[in-house]
Amino acid sequence: MCDTLGVDKKQIIVDYLTQLFPDARCELNGETPFEFLVSVILSAQCTDKRVNMTTPTLFAKYNKPQDFVKADILDIENIIRPCGFYHNKARNIVLLSHALLDKFDGVVPNTLDELMSLPGVGMKTAKVVLGFVFNQNVMAVDTHVLRVSNRLGIVDEKNADKCSIKLEKYFKTDVQKLHHRFVLFGRYYCKAISPKCEMCQLKSICKYYKEVKNVS
Ligand code: SF4
Repeated sequence: MCDTLGVDKKQIIVDYLTQLFPDARCELNGETPFEFLVSVILSAQCTDKRVNMTTPTLFAKYNKPQDFVKADILDIENIIRPCGFYHNKARNIVLLSHALLDKFDGVVPNTLDELMSLPGVGMKTAKVVLGFVFNQNVMAVDTHVLRVSNRLGIVDEKNADKCSIKLEKYFKTDVQKLHHRFVLFGRYYCKAISPKCEMCQLKSICKYYKEVKNVS
């Protein structure tokens, strides 16, 4: 659990991930907080690259909540189809636009509770927006962050939202940058299948490595 880990372990993890990915940052595009929020919604089960290829066409036609509430949903679906789950995503973007206009004068709010009150916005999406748009010290937890933090033994937690809160308490500072580093580390090194343990400099402090390799 978080509380029982030493400062050294935390610093070793932060230093190594910073060394591996010094320039890690969010790769989704969006000129305004609203565009960025839409991009994050589109990125569910889709790559950032594909989202960034899709949004220029979308935002050329619709880039404000006022546009989406008046739009033909079939047209939105057609444009965002390459991002997958386009029925649900189009519906959520339209519902989200209505809610933003009804409750927040069309402005993307900057608190977790307010963001999570919007249709289709869970804790992960809300924290990606809070971190990137509002520069808040939050840790969005996706499948990579969840896997890596459990393997390292930072948390023993399968629920992504609870994991997020525990990681914020554990790392305390710069967690937003650390989120991107965890994602890249999980994507390219600590992969779900066949993690690259032999070349990983965290193996001496990694719970998973010790268990799998049966080392003390
Ligand atoms: S030693 Fe293996 S399981 Fe542990 S953090 Fe490194 S890559 Fe992941």
